[in-house]
Amino acid sequence: MKAAVFSKPGIENVRVQEYPEPEIGDHDVLIKVKMAGVNPIDYFTVSGMRGLKGHALPIKVEPLPHIPGSELSGTVDRFGKHVERFTKGDRVIAYNRLFDGTCDMCLKSYEMLCRSKVGDGLIGVNTNGGFAEYVSVPEKNLFIVPNNLEWDIAASIPITALTPFHALKEASLRANESLLVFGASGNTGMLAIQLGKKIGSYVVAISSKTWLKDFGADYIITDPEKILDEMDKITQGNLSDVVLNAMGNDMWEKSFKVLGRNGRLITFGVLAGNEVKLDIHSLYSKHIRIIGCTGGSRSELHELIGFSKELKIKVWKKFKLEEAKEALQGLFAQQREGRILLEIG
Ligand SMILES: [Zn+2]
Repeated sequence: MKAAVFSKPGIENVRVQEYPEPEIGDHDVLIKVKMAGVNPIDYFTVSGMRGLKGHALPIKVEPLPHIPGSELSGTVDRFGKHVERFTKGDRVIAYNRLFDGTCDMCLKSYEMLCRSKVGDGLIGVNTNGGFAEYVSVPEKNLFIVPNNLEWDIAASIPITALTPFHALKEASLRANESLLVFGASGNTGMLAIQLGKKIGSYVVAISSKTWLKDFGADYIITDPEKILDEMDKITQGNLSDVVLNAMGNDMWEKSFKVLGRNGRLITFGVLAGNEVKLDIHSLYSKHIRIIGCTGGSRSELHELIGFSKELKIKVWKKFKLEEAKEALQGLFAQQREGRILLEIG
């Protein structure tokens, strides 16, 4: 089969070449990949470092030579003899966390925190991923999507939509609360806006992009220097109930100051620095909660598929498998607006 492969770290080392078709175990399913999402995790997998310069940590990638691709969708091609839930041609997406299903975290629906050795991994990082014609995935990681669901959306559910969905659940966002989204025009940002609206909250986006109105944003703050003033006005002084900031220390102070009483600040990523200062007085006197989270659970993915047809995504560019390197390079391009997808099947 054809696959995007690298043998040593570095985007420049990605080649599209012939690679042996994956073998499937008794509990595995062979997926014919249709569309793969391109995410920072794929970039970090190939570059060998998780995070951007200044705060990057080495990332363990296996096997080598390696096929990246942590967010994938496609159709069932073949399956092992103990697989009962799927038939050939089923349209599926893959939950990308590896997990054992038996530890206390898995039993509490926190498979992304699985304590087992295997649970420390991701499809596409610690197994070969979806930047290939075929990928083998354990049956327990697979979910069927609705028949008429666009592949662009299917390939955006396992990471791009699940991450903010889980974050908003962890933050206990409720109807009639205000949600402030930093990095709102980013992949997870545009989904956070839509999910916040579905919950019934008042969603404020921080972005220079007015197209976010089409994604449901009730109000857009274009000048980061005016966040506090504008939120103060919009909420009649109450400020934000929930703030979503996956930007890192760049925006930390602004995102903390704009929290109102019983406010929740939630983060699942860092683009600009790991360390921040914390005003403990505000933290306790306003009953503020700071919540970290990563990914989401299988149960949340299952729930999310239920309204996946109502979600939309802005696509910047679709690349062919042969252009996997260009797709990865585009991820941090200044002019990027919307997601990057790899169209394979
Ligand atoms: Zn587990």
